[in-house]
Amino acid sequence: MNRLSTAQLLTMSATITLLAGCNVQTTKPDAPIAQASLSSPKVLVEHKDPSPHGSGNVTSDVTEKDKRDQLQIANKPDDVAVLVNKQNKLPANYTPSDLVEPNVPFIFKEKEERRLMRKEAAKALEELFNAARKDGIDLAGVSGYRSFDSQKSLFTYYISVQGEETARQYSAEPGHSEHQTGLAMDVSDTKGTCAAEDCFADTPHAKWLDKHAPEYGFIIRYPKGKEAITGYNYEPWHIRYVGTDIARTIQREGITLEEYHQRKTELTKK
Ligand SMILES: [Zn+2]
Repeated sequence: MNRLSTAQLLTMSATITLLAGCNVQTTKPDAPIAQASLSSPKVLVEHKDPSPHGSGNVTSDVTEKDKRDQLQIANKPDDVAVLVNKQNKLPANYTPSDLVEPNVPFIFKEKEERRLMRKEAAKALEELFNAARKDGIDLAGVSGYRSFDSQKSLFTYYISVQGEETARQYSAEPGHSEHQTGLAMDVSDTKGTCAAEDCFADTPHAKWLDKHAPEYGFIIRYPKGKEAITGYNYEPWHIRYVGTDIARTIQREGITLEEYHQRKTELTKK
């Protein structure tokens, strides 16, 4: 993990916007500091695990503290339906094995890890953005994949300036960010107006996504009115790939990914 220089921290503190599940630093097109400057300098991740499905034995990641906190460790972190939230974490060493850069516009120029998504999600994102463009909605990527170490740097930074209690209200602990799955992307218009900000909710882009994202396998992961279930405020810009079947079910039923998993668990118990 890179250590942040004082200059970086100072610039960050000037540009940072406090956010919920994403805790992405809002990067306006003219802002020099970029999210992934917090992270490992390599853009494309080396894949040590050749298996496309699973990073092997994950039980070693369950610490005594996890047990005390009743945390669940995802045993299928490569499943597109994987649940990652405040109670469910990814294995610490988890890195998706098939990260690629989707061919879509981004609101920043730098070649950084936050351009990346898992292959299937990246392809779906391209289709989603193309469909939006046909309807006159130009979308751009703001922040996709984020490694465990990037999240750790960010979370540590928030704690250093806000204190732990406050930081935890909007920032995900390392291992608990959906961005580490490579299945999430924060989006905005191509100018980055309201990028990862509440005002995005009032844009035609947010309305289009709310209606059409499930057709391409994405859900609005943190919907309005479901804060108590997801653990995060409404984030109309954070879309999460789950595949079209699950996304359509979630949209039709008006539920969250948490509720989808809960129902599935109940069905298997019967
Ligand atoms: Zn996000």
